[in-house]
Amino acid sequence: MDSSCSWLAPKVLHGGKFNKLMATTYLLLYHGLDSAAEPIASSVDASDLNIVVKETAFRDQLKALLARGTAVITLEEMLAQSQAQDREQVVLTFDDGHKSNWSLAMPALIDVGLTAIFYIVAGEVDKNPEYVTSDQLREMSEQGMEIGSHTMTHRFLSQLSRDEMRYELADSKKRLEEIIQKPVLDLAIPGGHYKKTVIHEARECGYRSVTTCKVGVFQTGQNSMEIPRLEIRRNLDLDAFQKTFCESTVRKLQAFELAKSCVRKTVGLDFYTGLRRAAHRIISINR
Ligand SMILES: [Zn+2]
Repeated sequence: MDSSCSWLAPKVLHGGKFNKLMATTYLLLYHGLDSAAEPIASSVDASDLNIVVKETAFRDQLKALLARGTAVITLEEMLAQSQAQDREQVVLTFDDGHKSNWSLAMPALIDVGLTAIFYIVAGEVDKNPEYVTSDQLREMSEQGMEIGSHTMTHRFLSQLSRDEMRYELADSKKRLEEIIQKPVLDLAIPGGHYKKTVIHEARECGYRSVTTCKVGVFQTGQNSMEIPRLEIRRNLDLDAFQKTFCESTVRKLQAFELAKSCVRKTVGLDFYTGLRRAAHRIISINR
């Protein structure tokens, strides 16, 4: 445990401004995993490889959470809490539905008795071999994993008409419900790009929560339709992972995110996305 983290000092357990942060949940955002036996496709863009965490690192992170006494809870449990918890809480979340969610992430979770919520791009199921199949999805659900929607086609919702948005939100929900035979009540927004109308439509479509890529932690009682998360990236070592659970780290990440969003607003989303991919390509060519 990192003793330089201010909120870990005993005084903050019993009052003071960080007490508020102690009563928070850190939602960690993962995507796909890879391993020596199951390497990620060589065709994956360098900017996308950055979000693929090694299976060994993921297993080490789960062990670290258990070692530090973190309460790893389900999203449903977090949403049901009406009172702030005086403990460190984590919800593990996975976006997209890459096949490694089933082959690598689920076994790692089961080995240590933990669960996660998997937000699935419904239109890729049984269609794209890089994504989970409906049988695998059913198995994940039966093993106690939570299943949420990550829309039908992963288009950026903020750029869609109302009808297109409905298709992404309502049809994906229905499709996933038909597969797992359980209600799908939670949505994660592709790319984190959204505006207020997206939240309104999500509510209309019957979602109880919307998870975003906004950087931050969830406070008990906070609006469940705009839940922030903290992305875990490939290059994060275990020491840095431990430092994630710290107010100063969250503030630094928020400042970085704010700077990125200013650039995005200035140059436009499409140009920004292209620029980001080009920058990653240059970095990967030169390393
Ligand atoms: Zn996504």
